[in-house]
Amino acid sequence: MQMVIPHWLTKQADISPDQIALQLSDGSTLTFQQLKERSQDYAKKLAGWGVAKGTHVAVLSSNQPTMVIAIHALSYLQAVVVLLNSRLTGDELTYQLKDAEVSFLIYTETLAELAGKLPVSKALSLTAVECLQPQAIDIATEINLDKPFTMMYTSGTTGFPKGVVHTYGNHWWSAIGSALNLGLQSEDKWLAALPLFHVSGLSILIRSVIYGMPVYLLEKFDKKRVHQAIMTKGITMVSVVTLMLQQLLGELGEKTYPASLRCMLLGGGPAPKPLLEQAKEKGVPVFQSFGMTETASQIVTLNANDALKKIGSAGKALFPAQVKINAPDEDGVGEIYVKGPMVTSGYYRNQAATEKALIAGWLATGDLGYLDKEGYLYVIDRRSDLIISGGENVYPSEIESTLLRFPGIKEAGVTGVEDTKWGEVPIAFIVTDDGTYNQAELQAFLKRHLAAYKCPKQIYEVARLPRNASNKLVRRELKKLL
Ligand code: ATP
Ligand code: MG
Repeated sequence: MQMVIPHWLTKQADISPDQIALQLSDGSTLTFQQLKERSQDYAKKLAGWGVAKGTHVAVLSSNQPTMVIAIHALSYLQAVVVLLNSRLTGDELTYQLKDAEVSFLIYTETLAELAGKLPVSKALSLTAVECLQPQAIDIATEINLDKPFTMMYTSGTTGFPKGVVHTYGNHWWSAIGSALNLGLQSEDKWLAALPLFHVSGLSILIRSVIYGMPVYLLEKFDKKRVHQAIMTKGITMVSVVTLMLQQLLGELGEKTYPASLRCMLLGGGPAPKPLLEQAKEKGVPVFQSFGMTETASQIVTLNANDALKKIGSAGKALFPAQVKINAPDEDGVGEIYVKGPMVTSGYYRNQAATEKALIAGWLATGDLGYLDKEGYLYVIDRRSDLIISGGENVYPSEIESTLLRFPGIKEAGVTGVEDTKWGEVPIAFIVTDDGTYNQAELQAFLKRHLAAYKCPKQIYEVARLPRNASNKLVRRELKKLL
């Protein structure tokens, strides 16, 4: 039997028409009823342009209310939304548009120049769509959970970005899994400053319609605006990545957040333990999580009770999900495998990558980790970045976080280079505050905190580290700095 539910936005508008769906920093709001009406009107205009069931429509935008409307409108047409990262270059976007077989593009005005370089004949700005003639069409009243809703590309940290297809069901189960872990409270309001083109941002919108919860939408992350919003706008939940947490703690200084802030959901990459400890000291309710584009956002998350006692852990698999360690070594470390209805069924038109990642119903994440005695997940590093030196496993992230604890070091990246004696040895690249760190002290510090085989054989000071459009460190490009 097909899994069919009423269209989630229509349903929410029916249950709680006057509840705020979207709140913007200028004070304006949209209720669920208004969001539904605007999205359905927008759908009719898109239909007049030629968008139909199954059409692949790319969206290139910063976080804007019209982007939210466009996304829901496309679901009313049962079209597939291809979310583009606006920080990519024209060439990178061109690859994704071709790979995803996109025939329509909607973009925000400020990205018109970039959009103009892209090979899509049917392209209009978000506001130009609003001027189109509407077409009388049947708006979808139901959602088939097995049907594709969105596509987005992985960050391209370990190789070429892969197009992840998310069904409605993937998003549905992601939202349900999150609610069963974090709970729902009537005063909940989730701040979205992460880009909606990443699954960490998009998933906030989906939770909003399923829970009937307002989203406080910011165009982009700005530490001062996010800080102000948390302090004064009744925010209860906010999703962040490590860099944002770091900046927000700086902004917070000696102050404390209002008690109404109940969850700062941290994901997307490794979080240095000193940062988590600092957050704990300041009473910031950080919930570490592990997830990937492929898992439609978090799949493993620490819950409120364990957030303080299991610092550094990503927690346990969400209620509908499972996690296991494949082929663990004697220390229990192996590749993290996850399973659950929020996990994608595969990459678009990339059977080879799909077969490599999806193994007997489990997703091989490409990340290494272990489960402690109580079953809490600790993520160690990417499998592809593992350095094997003299038969010992060396994890770049461990060395990087040690380097980051040294005063004056702002950023660190570690990779392995060939070595005739040890096979491979770690080398480090650092970005410092002003280049005045004490080298002898750094060496002594590393010796104190790391086994000799983990101490970088060379440390190079560089102006910046290679990062991708998601601001993630691309370790495979570090050697190019030599
Ligand atoms: P690509 O798959 O193209 O190489 P990517 O894996 O960086 O890019 P994303 O899907 O954006 O693309 O990121 C998912 C990855 O982020 C995970 O596989 C993991 O390496 C990292 N990550 C997520 N959460 C955590 C965490 N809590 N601790 C450490 N790493 C994490
Ligand atoms: Mg990945």
